[in-house]
Amino acid sequence: MAVVGRSSFLIVCFAALSTFLLQNMHNHSTMEGIPSGKTRVLDLSYAINDKLVPWPGDEKFFEAKINATVEKNGYFTRSFWMLEHYGTHLDAPAHFPPGKTTVDQIPVKQLFGPAVVMDVRAQSGKDADYQLSAARIEEWEKQNGRIPEGAIVLLRTGWASRWPDVQKYRNQDAQGKMHFPGFSAEGAKLLIGRKVSGLGCDTLSIDYGASSDYAVHHLSLGAGLYHLENLADMSELPETGAFLVVAPIKLEGGSGGPVRVFALLP
Ligand SMILES: [Zn+2]
Repeated sequence: MAVVGRSSFLIVCFAALSTFLLQNMHNHSTMEGIPSGKTRVLDLSYAINDKLVPWPGDEKFFEAKINATVEKNGYFTRSFWMLEHYGTHLDAPAHFPPGKTTVDQIPVKQLFGPAVVMDVRAQSGKDADYQLSAARIEEWEKQNGRIPEGAIVLLRTGWASRWPDVQKYRNQDAQGKMHFPGFSAEGAKLLIGRKVSGLGCDTLSIDYGASSDYAVHHLSLGAGLYHLENLADMSELPETGAFLVVAPIKLEGGSGGPVRVFALLP
């Protein structure tokens, strides 16, 4: 009996050690595989210029000026001006509720995390006012397991294929109301409960286009999450297994700002 007990103990130890080593090998090889090309990295950010889709109402959104040229000065520099919320950008918690974290204050730990992809392309294709429900999130969990703490939840609506066509992307009706999919308030509440780090989407806003109260903005920014808006084409991302690196501009006191988002594929 004693021998059996000891060997089962050893088997358990061996299994635990193997799991630990495998997990570590996986994490190491994901990062270390980048230079060799073994790990593919997707860039989920759009290049910034003056032809992107701005939020309605802003007249000036981006401007770049040449300050020096190689011909004249021996070197090339520009200066630029832009809105904080233009192109692929991050909403800091301070964007809505007062007294919250500005973009430079977001803990760096929150900027790295596993990507949870909610694929709603089929629903969004049928209904431009689609909102990701709590039930749809629970369905994702039934298939892929519980959403881990620190995850970054991305809503893949397929809207990136309309970028940068202002009319198609904003999808405004005769009254000027926009129609594109987003997260629902009850869905956001569930995700806040899962302690995720941030929410992202391939549309102009985390709240669906027709929203007038920006309920999700209030809820999730109020809970200390950040938002990634106008993410580029996510069609190559798996529903689970990719890892995100979120690198926003470190603009002191900013309500948000341009962000570079990288997805490391498994
Ligand atoms: Zn924004």
